[in-house]
Amino acid sequence: AAPSEHVGIEGFMEGVKRRNPGQPEFVQAVQEVAEDIFDFIEGKEEYHRWQILRRIAEPDRVVSFRVSWEDDEHNIRVQRGYRVQNNNAIGPYKGGLRFHPSVNESILKFLAFEQTFKNALTGLPMGGGKGGANFNPKGKSDGEIMRFCQSFMTELYRHIGADVDVPAGDIGVGGREIGYMFGQYKRITNSFEGVLTGKGLEYGGSLIRPEATGYGAVYFLENMLKTKGQDLTGKRAVISGSGNVATHAAEKIVQLGGKVLTLSDSEGFVYDPDGFTQEKIDWVKTHKTRRRGRISDYAKEYKTATFHAGERPWGVECDVALPCATQNELNGKEAELLIKNGCIAVSEGANMPTDLEGVHLFRKAKTLYAPGKAANAGGVAVSGLEMSQNSARISWKVDELQRLLRDIMDGIHERCLEYGEREKGYVDYVRGANIAGFKKVADAMLAFGV
Ligand code: GLU
Repeated sequence: AAPSEHVGIEGFMEGVKRRNPGQPEFVQAVQEVAEDIFDFIEGKEEYHRWQILRRIAEPDRVVSFRVSWEDDEHNIRVQRGYRVQNNNAIGPYKGGLRFHPSVNESILKFLAFEQTFKNALTGLPMGGGKGGANFNPKGKSDGEIMRFCQSFMTELYRHIGADVDVPAGDIGVGGREIGYMFGQYKRITNSFEGVLTGKGLEYGGSLIRPEATGYGAVYFLENMLKTKGQDLTGKRAVISGSGNVATHAAEKIVQLGGKVLTLSDSEGFVYDPDGFTQEKIDWVKTHKTRRRGRISDYAKEYKTATFHAGERPWGVECDVALPCATQNELNGKEAELLIKNGCIAVSEGANMPTDLEGVHLFRKAKTLYAPGKAANAGGVAVSGLEMSQNSARISWKVDELQRLLRDIMDGIHERCLEYGEREKGYVDYVRGANIAGFKKVADAMLAFGV
């Protein structure tokens, strides 16, 4: 086969498409990275010769398995489970588990690929992986969730380990699910080790892990605004999602003097012109996690707010936007709307929430735009700190962890500036994140040979 310098980016992407038929999300994620990497490796013979990008864009391993479980009516149900181990050049595979009906190989491969760059950016020794199942937790009883998690782990346990692959939560997988899976791993292997992160505090979890992704995305946003001599005081924020990432992002924005106007779920968004206060955010947290309710109920609880069924919040006028729901939730038209309405910065709490057209438009308009792999890395970073605490069998205090999270987010911002600063007053964070993440993994791979 021709080395990558001879096929160029078009030839390279053609190959990616051909080898991954019916996997549009994965192809999209590779494309977004490949454009910057080809630019960067131009004239750098060793990256071409050793086919580094070609190898990163081919997961080390894709494990796919059957998960059988019994529902409350005693029906036997069957789901597909996966673990994609993308790359372990710089540390054990690391990345979340997603339980959602949309889960398939394409989505998990894109997430594992993104995770590889994200984890490298944190500066901690973690490789990239992702897993999950096409299981829909919505409307399931606690017993059903427990039986599903146990069955899922009964297969997954043989592929993971504290120094091999360390899963965590993602969409549909929170503290409750991690508890059931950790319990099953411990039972099967008779080993108490830091094999999962996002654990409860009683059995090896870390303080601030629940807050870390949302807080981190806001710290990153603060750093972005600082490049323009601005801060969050008085800034109007539009946020999508209403889960762990969105509610903690909202909380931190409010703490830093900003005004949060929206939250959403798959059924629509709520707009509160008075802004979400801490008390209102706490209501959402309880309503969503404890009662597992819908965001539309917010407009019934707080009469100042309106619910917009079937709509996304990107048309609401704002200064900053934080997509914190899921992939491809912000398209080209919506990016245009945000730009037209004067939005100056976008910080992604979700993974790949903006589609390729949207990304191109933000970059063209020179909107400050931070891709998820940089902006939402706070979550996996504190997971990395949880791994360190587990290995050392200690637990750090909240102040220490808060300081470390801040430092790590500042460090990621610095790394983005290194390769992404194009001109005074504008940083291309996509390019900065892609190149900085790639370089670390690539250089480790070069050291190992083939
Ligand atoms: N699922 C989160 C992410 O997308 C966290 C992963 C982890 O903590 O391992 O980065």
